[in-house]
Amino acid sequence: MTSVGEIPASVCPPSRLLMGPGPSAIAPQVLTALAAPTVGHLDPYFLKVMDELQAMLRQTLCTQNRLTLAVSGTGSAGMETVVVNLIEPGDRMLVCVNGVFGGRMADVARRAGAEVTVIERPFGEVFDPAEILTAVQQTRPKVVGIVHAETSTGAHQPLEEIARICREHDALIAVDCVTSLGGVPVEVDQWGLDAVYSGTQKCLSCPPGLAPVTFSDRAVAAIDRRTRKVASWYLDMAMVKEYWSGSRAYHHTAPINMNYALHEALRLVLLEGLPARFARHQQNHLALKAGLEALGLKYAGVEGHRLPMLNAVFIPDGIEDAAVRGRLLTRFGIEIGGGLGPWKGKAWRIGLMGAASTPGNVLLFLASLELCLRQEGYRLSPGSGVAAAEEVYQASSAK
Ligand SMILES: *Cc1c(COP(=O)(O)O)cnc(C)c1O
Repeated sequence: MTSVGEIPASVCPPSRLLMGPGPSAIAPQVLTALAAPTVGHLDPYFLKVMDELQAMLRQTLCTQNRLTLAVSGTGSAGMETVVVNLIEPGDRMLVCVNGVFGGRMADVARRAGAEVTVIERPFGEVFDPAEILTAVQQTRPKVVGIVHAETSTGAHQPLEEIARICREHDALIAVDCVTSLGGVPVEVDQWGLDAVYSGTQKCLSCPPGLAPVTFSDRAVAAIDRRTRKVASWYLDMAMVKEYWSGSRAYHHTAPINMNYALHEALRLVLLEGLPARFARHQQNHLALKAGLEALGLKYAGVEGHRLPMLNAVFIPDGIEDAAVRGRLLTRFGIEIGGGLGPWKGKAWRIGLMGAASTPGNVLLFLASLELCLRQEGYRLSPGSGVAAAEEVYQASSAK
């Protein structure tokens, strides 16, 4: 694909192993779906794809919620959708911030005109229901916003108890499940979550571009009670839902091919089965963890509250962040993430999301990281990471 005069060559991206905080590795079937012929957004074929996609989203989110669909936009558009539809200017919102994405939700809420109260936890920690109870009693919020899987830190927030507290205090709970969906259980109905958003590019292993959202009956009732129109025309659920399940009235042109891709990605999730998928994520996390610890690296965050799909580890003293990540990428084609906020330059974020969560990737990554660390003068016992990880796999297959 050579360039002609002023015209650039066709895109011809390198093949990377995406083991960072997203986007994650994409299954070939999903890329194939993306390349299928585009039909019209009211074509009967596409309407059938949408219906099937909605049904599969409900299964993946473990919900019967009628208002369940894929917003046109990335995970952040899902965040905006939930906030702008639930919040009217002057409404009180409590936002729990223990990383970058909680901080983003507070920003979105302020822009939507909410009177925002923030409660904070240091990077890596999770919230205790008792402190949420106190904050809810003090501030009487309409909405409580919280992140299930904080991709900036690897923290896994338990939700069930917090959702109960919200319900008992007549607050709606809005949850960021961008990274958790498809990697750990997200039980929307059983836990009583009112508004949940996700993204396609993390554990669903689909390119970035759509944001699954779901709203409980309580949340829909709150939207119906609004006295003012939603500030965002594009993300107004009252109109978007008419296209997805009502009159099919034109609102905006659905990104047709992205919906094909998500349809295929969800099919793969359900074919594997949610319990098997969660077990796979957990197993590969345990193997990676054994390997990294054998190399002398320490996990960030709190034991018992770590995500399997996002492994945050501290960079050993004397090792240069950029040199190692650069070498992983250029020499081995592996992308991992750096630290954010207070962890910038101090931590690596290694993703094992969706299709990327495999024993082969874990072992390849450990071997590659070992070589990069040795290049930096780090002392380790050669092969120890791979051996420790393999031991985890052997032990589980012997069971
Ligand atoms: C990635 C991510 C987002 C934002 O999603 P984009 O697709 O980047 O817009 C929001 N919240 C969490 C927890 C994420 O990991």
